[in-house]
Amino acid sequence: MKGRVKDLSLAEQGRLKLEWAMKHMPVLMRLREEGRDKRPLAGLRIGAVLHVTKETGVLMMALKDSGAEEVVLAASNPLSTQDDVAAALVEYGIRVYAWRGQSSEEYYWCIRQVAESRPDIVLDDGGDLHAMLHSEYKKLAGEITGGTEETTTGVIRLKSLEREGLLLYPVVAVNNAYTKFLFDNRYGTGQSTFDGIMRATNILVAGKNVVVAGYGWVGKGIALRARGLGARRVIVTEVDPIRALEAVFDGFEVMPMSEAAGIGDIFVTATGNKAVIRREHFEKMKDGAILANAGHFNVEVWIPDLESLSVRKRVIRENVTEYTLRDGRKLYLLAEGRLVNLVAAEGHPSEVMDMSFANQYLAVKYLHENKGRLEKKVYNPPRELDEMVARLKLETMGIKIDELTPEQAEYLKSWSYGT
Ligand code: NAD
Ligand code: SAH
Repeated sequence: MKGRVKDLSLAEQGRLKLEWAMKHMPVLMRLREEGRDKRPLAGLRIGAVLHVTKETGVLMMALKDSGAEEVVLAASNPLSTQDDVAAALVEYGIRVYAWRGQSSEEYYWCIRQVAESRPDIVLDDGGDLHAMLHSEYKKLAGEITGGTEETTTGVIRLKSLEREGLLLYPVVAVNNAYTKFLFDNRYGTGQSTFDGIMRATNILVAGKNVVVAGYGWVGKGIALRARGLGARRVIVTEVDPIRALEAVFDGFEVMPMSEAAGIGDIFVTATGNKAVIRREHFEKMKDGAILANAGHFNVEVWIPDLESLSVRKRVIRENVTEYTLRDGRKLYLLAEGRLVNLVAAEGHPSEVMDMSFANQYLAVKYLHENKGRLEKKVYNPPRELDEMVARLKLETMGIKIDELTPEQAEYLKSWSYGT
């Protein structure tokens, strides 16, 4: 069975997109070349739930070329699938269950196909596959060698399973690699979020007031890029005092959302939390305010409140829904409150996903090589693999760095040198 995608005749366009991504993912391509030679994943069955993009496509091809017996892929978001890429991957021999614009039932049906493919190793983004395996497929989950998790929210869900003693296989939290979150979450989301906002609206950012909810790695990148695009005021909202202070010292205004609500022209949520923008905030917003989410699922902008406050709702442009409130004000929700960078644009640029997915590839290899030796825990990626990704990335960028002299190495190890 080849899976289910929208239209196989889109494969040629998808192949071109994959080719473009490969050109910009040199680290992953190097691992793929090595994998072709050594076939380190020979015979493995791999199940993945990731955004079906050109970058994910390159990862799936690398896994297959490294000997995986079967690679099954479903989408980690109902709206983020690039249908042409999905078709090209089917042609390449990957079993894909993904199309753009799935209903909730279709979305979970596709993930179910991955679970039922009896994978040895599972890759997930957001934790929906892990959650399904730990609730409906416990027996199958018990046979899994290990899993990986791509994003902050997924890691939080897995840690909660671990804490409750319910985790059924070891997991590598790929998100926690430095070469992932420092780059993907920050620079990847920073750029692609504005790419999504601009593609959806074509509005000018210069001169606008941008409110960023959450100053984690994602929020930092978004605030940085908002400033770079000439926003008049960049306002950060936080609940964590340390991160709030960091935002202040980075030169941003910090205030509660209840205050920021009346000031912002563009709101971007990046907290991984629910109902960060809700009724009391919508009630204060200016006419024309734009609402976008770059964080967890479609719960950060609380849509039920927006719906109940509105007298009219219509799609005014692709990925832009206009809500007319009782007093006539209009608020514009982008991408149905889902990840604006993946729904209204193409997700992170390939150069950033190069590192995230090199980490995914190495995590799969690590789980396979350490089969039976790992506990049912959430592991951070081994430091030496993280450093290897950074070294390879620098090398492919033609950047050299210094090495410690033997005296320096000795100095750093010793406690005995004083002033
Ligand atoms: P993080 O934990 O580093 O940061 C989240 C921040 O939000 C924290 O500082 C937290 O204190 C703050 N926060 C929580 N509740 C809040 C509230 N009610 N108001 C204001 N601030 C609040 O996480 P991160 O790595 O920055 O990721 C954030 C979210 O983005 C996660 O859901 C993650 O999965 C997702 N993510 C999305 C993309 C993408 O491509 N769009 C990329 C990476 C991560
Ligand atoms: N599945 C959830 C979780 C957030 S997705 C949801 O859809 O709401 C956030 C993750 O998307 C990030 O950790 C990032 O690594 C990944 N991502 C961003 N751009 C991508 C791209 N071009 N291809 C594949 N994954 C991408």
